[in-house]
Amino acid sequence: MYKPLFRLQAIGVLLMTVTLYSQTQAQKIVIAHRGASGYLPEHTLQAKAMAYAMGADYIEQDVVMTSDDQLIVLHDITLDRTTNVAEQFPNRIRDDGRFYAIDFTLDEIRQLKASEGFEIENGVKVQSFANRFPMGASSFSVPTLAEEIELIQGMNKSTGTDIGIYPEVKSPEFHREAGKDISTAVVKMLKAYGYTSKQDKVFLQTFSFDELKIIHDEILPAEGVELKLIQLIGGESSFPWMFEVDGMDRLASFADGIGPEKGLVILRESSKSNIEVTNLVTRAHAANIQVHPYTYRLDPGQLPGYADSFEELLELHYFRADVDGVFTDFPDRAVDFLRNRNR
Ligand code: CA
Repeated sequence: MYKPLFRLQAIGVLLMTVTLYSQTQAQKIVIAHRGASGYLPEHTLQAKAMAYAMGADYIEQDVVMTSDDQLIVLHDITLDRTTNVAEQFPNRIRDDGRFYAIDFTLDEIRQLKASEGFEIENGVKVQSFANRFPMGASSFSVPTLAEEIELIQGMNKSTGTDIGIYPEVKSPEFHREAGKDISTAVVKMLKAYGYTSKQDKVFLQTFSFDELKIIHDEILPAEGVELKLIQLIGGESSFPWMFEVDGMDRLASFADGIGPEKGLVILRESSKSNIEVTNLVTRAHAANIQVHPYTYRLDPGQLPGYADSFEELLELHYFRADVDGVFTDFPDRAVDFLRNRNR
């Protein structure tokens, strides 16, 4: 009597385990790249709140340091492209013609107005993505990492959800040369806000493999925390060894995932009739490494020739190439796509 019952229970547990496993495997995520940056100026709290409301699973923060060692959320190590620093502090320009965040105190950075990104052409500011939020309209600022984490955690409390954060340590070597250990500062801050284990909703990313190793081997143990680490990969030439047969296995000692440029997953020169999926995702998954490529954009000229629509691009990457998540400036479209697909 007991024996068959026990066996049934065992099968039940087994089925549940298998289902849970396949659900975990199938759980594809949307990462809001610099927030909902297709709709509001990148890395402003407004763009992050919008990404949150759109249902992104993770919201990205690029992190750089100020002269007084404060962590701010900014994509470039310079303030030129996304603020009015040139008008506000004209004499703080370096010999190379740029304004570096690391030369400014947080107090000074708080005086800047952030805007949609722009380039200077013939002395005139030209908005980089013409169809996006009008440059100079309304009022935005450069947030600190703490302010942004508090915004996201605050919304997690008020909405009863658990949306993750996805900070990137920007140019760690540049910061080290200036005597600043930005990675330790970021890890300490994450720890202070309760991100201490691989179960917590945070991925910590960097393009520097040397820094990833330091974070993994030294900083995390020193702080007594474990975090999921992501190695960003701009191209094969950045780290040729990662593209060797055992490259992902070797990387797996340090990283939980990779964030490759999306042309490393499906070749740019693919055509509609010949979609060339590389072996990167297969190798990564075999090594238990997740794959979150960047950047999926809707702006004119941004869609690769092999896809007819943004949704087709997502279909090919999420399901033909089997990536686990995408970094997109348009999180609503990726969230809708996955919802419709899973219906
Ligand atoms: Ca980034």
